Amino acid sequence: MLDLAGSSYYTARAYRRAAELVRGLATPVAELVREGRVRELRGIGPGIEARLRELVETGRIEELDELEREVRPELVGFGRLLGLSPKRSVEIGEFLGITTAAEFREAIEAGRLTSVPGIGPKTEAKLRAGLAAAARPRPRRGLTLNRARALVEGIAAALGGVAAGDPRRWADSSERFVIVTTDNNALELFAQLPQIVAVTETGVGVTVEGVPVELVIAPSNAFGTALLRATGTDAYVEALEPLPEAPAEEDVYARLGVPYCPPELREEAHRRAPPTLVQVEDIRGDLHCHTTWSDGKASVLEMAEGAIARGYEYLAICDHTPSVGAVPGLTADDVLRQGEEIAAANEALAPFRVLRGIECDILRDGSLDLPDSVLAELDWVQASVHGGQRMPARELTARTLEAMRHRYVRCLSHPKGRIINHRPENALDLDQAFEVALETGVALEVNGLPDRLDLRGEHVRRATEAGVKIVASTDAHSVRGLGNMQLAVHTARRGWATAADVLNTQPLESILRR
Ligand SMILES: [Zn+2]
Ligand SMILES: [Zn+2]
Repeated sequence: MLDLAGSSYYTARAYRRAAELVRGLATPVAELVREGRVRELRGIGPGIEARLRELVETGRIEELDELEREVRPELVGFGRLLGLSPKRSVEIGEFLGITTAAEFREAIEAGRLTSVPGIGPKTEAKLRAGLAAAARPRPRRGLTLNRARALVEGIAAALGGVAAGDPRRWADSSERFVIVTTDNNALELFAQLPQIVAVTETGVGVTVEGVPVELVIAPSNAFGTALLRATGTDAYVEALEPLPEAPAEEDVYARLGVPYCPPELREEAHRRAPPTLVQVEDIRGDLHCHTTWSDGKASVLEMAEGAIARGYEYLAICDHTPSVGAVPGLTADDVLRQGEEIAAANEALAPFRVLRGIECDILRDGSLDLPDSVLAELDWVQASVHGGQRMPARELTARTLEAMRHRYVRCLSHPKGRIINHRPENALDLDQAFEVALETGVALEVNGLPDRLDLRGEHVRRATEAGVKIVASTDAHSVRGLGNMQLAVHTARRGWATAADVLNTQPLESILRR
C-alpha cells in the first residue's frame, strides 16, 4: 500500500522485509512487542516498532487506515483486473470523484473516462473490452503456486468452502481461482473478506492485486459436480460431460463409471485409471538445501533440526560453489571446514544423517567448479547450470551431458532453468539428458521453489516413462523453505510419478549406493 501511495522504494521494502520476518517467527510477534524485544530482530527499527506496538495495543494502525482512504484498494484491484496500473486507477478516481468499483464501471460505460487527462479513446476501448471479459476474468499474469494456494485456501477457510480452480491441480502458475460452497449466504461474507476489495456485477471477487476469484454456490446434492467442474481444465471436464449431479466428487466418478482421478491429473482429456501417486508422507529426506555457508539463512544444525521435525531420516547440505557469482560460493577449503561442522551435527543428531553435499556449478565447457579430489569426499553432488542458460541447444545440452557423465555427480538440479514469470526454459534437450541419466544413474530434480517447479509435470512424465529416477527437493534457503517439499511432490504427481519413481522415498542406504 505504501507503494501505491508513492512512498519511497526503500520504505516499502523495509516494511515488506519486516512482514516476512514477522511471518517467519517462532514466537508470536505480539509477545516480543510486549516484552520490548522486537528491536532485537534484524531490520526492525523504531518506526516499524512503533506501528507494531500500536497494532498490538489498539488492534489497528492509524497510518494504514489513512493510506486505505487515500489509495482506494477497491479501485486499484478493479483497475488492475481491467489492465490499469494502480497509479492510473487512483488518478482516475480522484479526477472523477469515484471511490468504488461500481462507480468505476459506470464511468467507463458512460464514456466519462476520456475526460480524464491522459486517457484517450484507445485506453477507453481497452477498458470496455476488459469489462466485457469480466464474466470469466483472468489475472494479467499467473500467480505462483505458493501464492495461489495461500489465496484460495485463506478464502475457502473463511467461508467454510473448498478451494478449487488451478491451484487445486497444483498448476505451476494459476489463472483461475474458484471457491465452491453450499452456503447460500456465502456471497455476503465473501464481499466482506479482507482479501476481496471489490465484487463485480457477476459476483466475481477481486483482490487488491486485481486477481479475480469466483464464488460458486452449489446445492449440497450437486456439490461434487460443481467442485469437479471448478477444478479440471476445460478440456478435461468437457471430455467427461454430461456430468451427473452428486454430493461428492467420488460419487460423480462412480456414476460415470470412470476411476477417481486426483486433481493433479485433471489437465488433459482422459478417463484412465491413475497409478498410486507419490505422497509427501513417502519422502524420507531432502537432498537439496542451503545454509549460511552460501546464501541460506540458517545453520547446518538448524536446517537438520528442521528436517528432523518433518520426520525425515536424512538431509543433504548443498551450498553453492564460487562460479555461481551473485552469491557466496564454497571453495575447496570451505568444503573441508563445512565437513567438520556437518560431522559435529551428525554426532549430535544421530541416527539422523546430515549428508555432505554440494550444488556444484557446471562451467561453460561442461567441467565442474570444484576439483575431483574435493567432490570425491562428498556424499551427494548436485550439478547445476546457473550462468549461460541462454546457450543454444547443442552447446547447452553438450555441456550438461558432460557434467552428468562426471563420476561424482548424482543429480541434475533445475534442469530447464526457468524462473516462472521471469525467464523461459532453456534449450536443454531432455531426451538426450534422459539417455545419459539411464546410462549413469544420475537423477533429475523436481525443484520445489515456487518460481522454479523444474522439472515440471509434463517433463516428469516423460522422465519416468523413460525409466529415469527423479528427486523431489526443496532447494530450501531457510528452515521454513523445507516446507516447499509439498510443491515438489505435487509437481511430481502432475507427472504421474509414483513413490518408486522418486529416489528420496528410499532409505539412506539406497541413496548412498550408486
Ligand atoms: Zn541452483
Ligand atoms: Zn540450490
